[in-house]
Amino acid sequence: MALDSKVPKGPIKDKWTTYKDKIDLVNPANKRNIDIIVVGTGLAGGSAAATLAELGYNVKAFAYQDSPRRAHSIAAQGGINASKNYMGDGDSNYRLFYDTVKGGDYRSREANVYRLAEVSGNIIDQCVAQGVPFARDYGGLLDNRSFGGVLVSRTFYAKGQTGQQLLLGAYSAMNRQIARGKIEMFNRHEMLDVVKVDGKARGIITRNLITGEIERHSAHAVVIATGGYGNVYFLSTNAMGSNATAAWKIHKKGAYFANPCFTQIHPTCIPRSGDYQSKLTLMSESLRNDGRIWVPAKLEDAKAIQQGKLKPTEIAEADRDYYLERRYPAFGNLVPRDVASRAAKERCDAGYGVNATGEAVYLDFASAFVRYGTEQAKIHNISNPSKEKIIELGQAIIEEKYGNLFQMYEKIIAENPYETPMMIYPATHYTMGGVWVDYNLMTTVDGLYCIGEANFSDHGANRLGASALMQGLADGYFVLPYTIGDYLSDDIRTGKIPTDTKEFDEVEKEVKDRIDFFMNNKGTKSVDYFHKRLGKVMWDKVGMARNEKDLKEAMVEIKIIREEFWKDVKVPGDANEMNLELEKAGRVADFLELGELFAKDALDRNESCGGHFREESVELDGEQKGEAKRNDKDYAYVSAWEYKGEPADAVLHKEELEFKDIELKQRSYK
Ligand SMILES: Cc1cc2nc3c(=O)[nH]c(=O)nc-3n(C[C@H](O)[C@H](O)[C@H](O)COP(=O)(O)OP(=O)(O)OC[C@H]3O[C@@H](n4cnc5c(N)ncnc54)[C@H](O)[C@@H]3O)c2cc1C
Repeated sequence: MALDSKVPKGPIKDKWTTYKDKIDLVNPANKRNIDIIVVGTGLAGGSAAATLAELGYNVKAFAYQDSPRRAHSIAAQGGINASKNYMGDGDSNYRLFYDTVKGGDYRSREANVYRLAEVSGNIIDQCVAQGVPFARDYGGLLDNRSFGGVLVSRTFYAKGQTGQQLLLGAYSAMNRQIARGKIEMFNRHEMLDVVKVDGKARGIITRNLITGEIERHSAHAVVIATGGYGNVYFLSTNAMGSNATAAWKIHKKGAYFANPCFTQIHPTCIPRSGDYQSKLTLMSESLRNDGRIWVPAKLEDAKAIQQGKLKPTEIAEADRDYYLERRYPAFGNLVPRDVASRAAKERCDAGYGVNATGEAVYLDFASAFVRYGTEQAKIHNISNPSKEKIIELGQAIIEEKYGNLFQMYEKIIAENPYETPMMIYPATHYTMGGVWVDYNLMTTVDGLYCIGEANFSDHGANRLGASALMQGLADGYFVLPYTIGDYLSDDIRTGKIPTDTKEFDEVEKEVKDRIDFFMNNKGTKSVDYFHKRLGKVMWDKVGMARNEKDLKEAMVEIKIIREEFWKDVKVPGDANEMNLELEKAGRVADFLELGELFAKDALDRNESCGGHFREESVELDGEQKGEAKRNDKDYAYVSAWEYKGEPADAVLHKEELEFKDIELKQRSYK
């Protein structure tokens, strides 16, 4: 099937407006006869469900947690971008568009990204109207801070809990509709497959996670908003339950999967402590506004630190290597995530790491304490303040801005980050790849939509900080509610979709057979045993740096793990009760297929772009020596994979990317 991105014609600035002016609408009386399934009620799904119900559609919403409030979106710390230019520092829709396309290393679709920038301001207005308590300045106006890869301050935030506050907003909007009966909420339900009728998505099969009951649900359209697949690495900053099952199942039913290898390894996470860890913790990127990243300049100091013989505070300023400021003077500590992560790996690989494993760098706030403290002393008319007083005043400001993050760090590491620099190291965090969607956010299956982190859309090969929340809420509040209407306008006479049909019978049987298989397999190894093995292959061979040999080996090794999994996995308990091992088994089975496609995609893309770094594609000379080398001539496309059975047999379809409004340039942050 040829890929059609359905981008409207005309100048980029007018595309979305013209499109909205021309699409077919569904009148309010007809909306009452149309059902929409929304799977996932994080920020993307929650905002979509609330808005679609507000418009008058009947929405059935599904989540595997016990409440939409517990979606992984709640973890988002740092903030949400919007081009409001409240800081008066020259921001505009064009600049947000430009930064996002550049930040994504020119591997995203221009028209979608422009639309994202265009609606970004509406998101803030919507959330403020809902009562989201964004940080405000002294005068009561909304405050902004800066995130990596940009030269303006456009990030709106609610302390270090932005995702939680935004989710409470979306959840309140949903609750209004639940109370009106316009949203039927199915908590603790996991979608295990999609049902197609005459080529159109018309329903899903779910498992009630408390009773184990397998259920059929029908609708005129299905929206997948189930988040990203970072947990394919086993260890990541994602919630433990985050999974790829819904996305993978629709892939197997005809939805192409795009750019699976585009993953974000976030530079500022708490380093791994050992082999028995099951989760990694993010330290928000916002900390790079005030923290400076460094390692010892001398190898002997690094060794002494690794052996516990030297403390960071004992290393003189001249003996520290602020390597981001040294290598990238224009952006310094605020280079984009992929650049910062690789730079940390480079220093640690060279032996300069600062913990026992040698896999950590410092994030140091000492100079921010002094900078803020000096300013505060002036504001409060304290003449000749002592050094201690200045630091005390400065620390109070940092506490105000990031207090909960400092507290979290201290609880996990048992060191006070006000007294000694934080230790950080890159970890898997976000997946830019995902289900391929056109301009309407529709997948390659009619009536099947995908929004939020689950789709591939706007971030190209690298997502800029604070842009995921923006995209999820743009999709849910401002894009999908229009585009889906255009499709549903053909369905006003269809009537209810029955579930007692052969299409539902067949898919339900597939789901039940798989559950029966797990319950009866009587293997000897736990689900986690296989997930950890998969994660290790992914991290070692498909991680921050990739090469042909490793990727080929990874594909073979993942296939072997997958075969062993099906022979030897053990799922205890019963299928007709709450059974977390059974849930995990289904999810890991899907990761074991997705992981192989991921490696295949990384192998195909023999260029370095964004978070995808191929060791074979590096600048050899000049100012950019050693930096990633993109290849626009051969790889300026979106890889959209069609399922053909084994992941190794997936067929590549290319969506060629056209850049009419942005000149393709080497991404330099120097
Ligand atoms: C620690 C951390 C901090 C972050 N901070 C920021 C930040 O400051 N700014 C920013 O822009 N981005 C941030 N991000 C990224 C951002 O939080 C996510 O990309 C975003 O929240 C994803 O939202 P979503 O709605 O697409 O998915 P999610 O929030 O992951 O929601 C997924 C939903 O799908 C449901 N679900 C999944 N599978 C199924 C299934 N099979 N059946 C039924 N339901 C299912 C879940 O129950 C849930 O309701 C951060 C990410 C992490 C990990």
